Amino acid sequence: MAHNPPLNFRPELDKKLDTLHGVGPRMVPKLQKLGLTTIEDALYHLPIRYEDRRQFKTINQLIDNQQEVFVGTVLASGETVTTRSRRSIYEVIVGDGSGKIALKWFRYRKPWLQKRFPVGQKAVFIGEVKRFAAIREVHHPDSELLNSDQDLQQLMSSDPLNFGRILPVYSLTEGLTQKQARKIWHQLIQENSEYIPGLIPAEIQEKYNLLPIPVALKQAHWPDESINIDDLQKGCDRARYSLVFDEFFYLELGLALKRAGVQLEEGIAFKFSHKYTIPLNKLLPFKLTDAQRRVLGEIKTDMMAPHPMHRLLQGDVGSGKTIVAMMAALIAIENRAQVAVVAPTEILAEQHYRTFQQWTEILGLKICLLQGNMAVAAKRDTLEQIAQGEIDLIVGTHAVLQEGVEFHSLGLGIIDEQHRFGVQQRSLLKRKGANPDMLVMTATPIPRTLSMTLYGDLSVSVIDQLPPGRKPVTTKRFSAAQRARGYELIQQELNQGRQAYVVYPLVEESEKSDLQAATVAAESFANDIFPDFKIGLLHGRMKTGEKDQVMNSFRQGDIQLLVATTVIEVGVDVPNATVMMIEHADRFGLSQLHQLRGRVGRGADKSYCLLIPSDHYSEDAARRLKVMVETEDGFRIAEADLEIRGPGDFLGTRQAGLPDFRVASLLRDIRVLESARQEAFNYVQKTEQLTTLDAQPVKKELLRRWGGRLELAAVG
Ligand code: ADP
Ligand code: MG
Repeated sequence: MAHNPPLNFRPELDKKLDTLHGVGPRMVPKLQKLGLTTIEDALYHLPIRYEDRRQFKTINQLIDNQQEVFVGTVLASGETVTTRSRRSIYEVIVGDGSGKIALKWFRYRKPWLQKRFPVGQKAVFIGEVKRFAAIREVHHPDSELLNSDQDLQQLMSSDPLNFGRILPVYSLTEGLTQKQARKIWHQLIQENSEYIPGLIPAEIQEKYNLLPIPVALKQAHWPDESINIDDLQKGCDRARYSLVFDEFFYLELGLALKRAGVQLEEGIAFKFSHKYTIPLNKLLPFKLTDAQRRVLGEIKTDMMAPHPMHRLLQGDVGSGKTIVAMMAALIAIENRAQVAVVAPTEILAEQHYRTFQQWTEILGLKICLLQGNMAVAAKRDTLEQIAQGEIDLIVGTHAVLQEGVEFHSLGLGIIDEQHRFGVQQRSLLKRKGANPDMLVMTATPIPRTLSMTLYGDLSVSVIDQLPPGRKPVTTKRFSAAQRARGYELIQQELNQGRQAYVVYPLVEESEKSDLQAATVAAESFANDIFPDFKIGLLHGRMKTGEKDQVMNSFRQGDIQLLVATTVIEVGVDVPNATVMMIEHADRFGLSQLHQLRGRVGRGADKSYCLLIPSDHYSEDAARRLKVMVETEDGFRIAEADLEIRGPGDFLGTRQAGLPDFRVASLLRDIRVLESARQEAFNYVQKTEQLTTLDAQPVKKELLRRWGGRLELAAVG
């Protein structure tokens, strides 16, 4: 038998950073603050940008809004007070014969600055040049003092770690200076980069002109003369490209294996009798859209195959995913299998239950609703019936995933609003049957960039068409002072027999006061503003029964205006509601706003969404509101969201069980991701799931990087 060393057998890379010469016990905690413990961590801590110190510019050559390095002599130095805000600042004027520039400090220790910058002192200054009308300034510059007779050429050659070349700039932490960082990383690279294995198959390396990883790391930290500084700053140099490719390649390799693993598993091959699907089709008051029919076809093909389906059904809010799910459920039930539908909130579970029940009743099928806070006896009864196989369709919340819930023959698991669940929940449900088919649905329009990584092991179907007759929702932003105009609009719609929502945010720390805001508003609507209409209040703290009651009254039109916290965010479907007013709209995330707005515009009538921000809000919030007013296109909104928030935060990639990216950025590097994905999938196929001899080193590295996260994959 071959001898396999343990997977983490990489002594050099796993060494702690204090083994590095020049990193003492005082430095270790500082580096730890940056998330760096081992040599490998530090090797991948790439510079955040670069500084061109190959030559110094004269002051008249400096470019506004750029990080610049220049030499100057102090002409004046002292404290002044600003005229407007009456704050004291420290100001140093430096000149070099070509011009002058002001250096300013807003937080400083006066004696230190006075001592450091007396008139006549020569120094190198580093900082961003800003222009205010005709005056150029640098705030809080870095500096290196020079002797007045010191020759610059001499300085450059005597201190090559800090001058005379393109220098890396690292993200720092308190007590770590740029100079120290440069020294540490210079040493690190010299001694350790060669230990990182470069394991991209040779033909791929050649095709994309990739640098071996050790070379790429060296170049990324200490770019040599051959490198174009503009490419570097933009992150499109070859070194970074190679590192990003490497990172994506291994990610996609894992996903490709997972996918292959699913395809190789045995599953249920469903057959079609159309016993229920055809009658349901006849029952529907509408015709399925082409997009709905197309995705249903894709789902059917998967269900017929003797392997388990793993499909993501993506469709913007209101695109009609529920009926597609129902059709899929009926196919499974025609095969005498059970179906579970899991929704993230009680309100949504209840709504699905009602929708499905209308149909199952006529078709003669048995359905139940399973929730957390059911009466003990009723719950026991329901669980018993599920286990006996007496119930065909089980609808519920997280409660369905719990331990005590056992199915007789679960053939299809459906998860609605998948983004509210983690990967774990998906596999919990899957394990309740013998390799059941899985259909997960989401309205969160995931940018292609992300769906490729997040759901790389799922097949994706997209409903890219709304049911006919939908009118666009007009979105307006009113200031708090213009709120009355919003009320007028609501009044007008209510007068015409339509319904409205007014939504308040529920941020955890201020939960109480927000709840209070909603309660107070409901009262003043009822008493003063809309006295002729019936007002309802809905929030998360209400008991299930109360919530159901309010929701039902609203659905039936007994309540015309519903004041709610975000409990109505997902899935709620009341087509007669045509106005939604969102208070403190700045506090919501973009996808949340989009989801909320999706509650209106569900019928044939014109609908409105009114955004009322708080008095003060951030720049990001302003951008979000602007996007909402400008577009209704879920994909554009998702892209904008990704841009504003940055990909790390978006959907919580960590929660999704993905490896973190060390170098790559999903925003910048989408092209690289696409190439890497294609190559990885080809490679998995070509090497028969990495079983060929030449694929063994790659497989080993893959296992190391993915750790235990490949459980579904076909790795023998
Ligand atoms: P979502 O995709 O957001 O879950 P739903 O499934 O709740 O959307 O559907 C939204 C509304 O559109 C529902 O009232 C549903 O009955 C209706 N609907 C679905 N499909 C069609 C269709 N093909 N034609 C007309 N209305 C439809
Ligand atoms: Mg839905």
